[in-house]
Amino acid sequence: MKIILLGAPGAGKGTVAKLLMEADGSIQISTGDLLRAAVKEGTELGRQAKGYMDRGDLVPDSLIMDMMEIRLQEKDCRQGFLLDGFPRTIPQAEALKEVMKRLDISLDFVVNLDVPRDIILDRLTTRRTCANGSCQEIYNTKSNPPNADGTCKKCGSPTIQRDDETEGAILNRLEVYNEKTAPLIGFYQGEGLLKTFLSVNSKDTVEAVIKALKE
Ligand code: AMP
Repeated sequence: MKIILLGAPGAGKGTVAKLLMEADGSIQISTGDLLRAAVKEGTELGRQAKGYMDRGDLVPDSLIMDMMEIRLQEKDCRQGFLLDGFPRTIPQAEALKEVMKRLDISLDFVVNLDVPRDIILDRLTTRRTCANGSCQEIYNTKSNPPNADGTCKKCGSPTIQRDDETEGAILNRLEVYNEKTAPLIGFYQGEGLLKTFLSVNSKDTVEAVIKALKE
């Protein structure tokens, strides 16, 4: 499958992507994960991106497009991919359209995850992430807690609250989403590619997406 996952921070894009990946071997490409890896490795891209990320602001479009144009040409994308957290702005969506035309890739559709705001806020403030860069398992202190001592159930590393998951950064990320990313809903509707799923439970959403793919 070749899908874009659209939705506010905390809408569950990462969880839905992981479940869809299991369904047919397509790979998840998360720009947030790629950027966090670049920050950790201390690359030039990571150095330029870190300040924006910590504040919950968007990294400039040019840096994202350079990174994604390379990523989409890697061999593992041929089987299919789920774009998680990209595109995030209209200029990114327009640039992606050009890149896909050039690489002769066409999308199945764009999945818009529609989640009530109170659920999103609750999910973001209770989220914990495994600090081990090669694990990064995501927990929720209420519905899916890590071990009692706060360590990851998968690898035993400490779990942390990300810098961009403090209350101030979360409110900023939601504002940035409304201003810069929500307009993509209209963009992809105009392209005839948008499918909106009211998403409270990720497993139900994944079933509905797989059904839509078969139609
Ligand atoms: P995420 O894990 O998708 O919430 O991304 C974490 C942070 O990485 C965002 O708050 C942005 O600072 C940055 N980021 C991720 N994807 C993009 C993108 N497509 N465009 C600009 N910034 C991005």
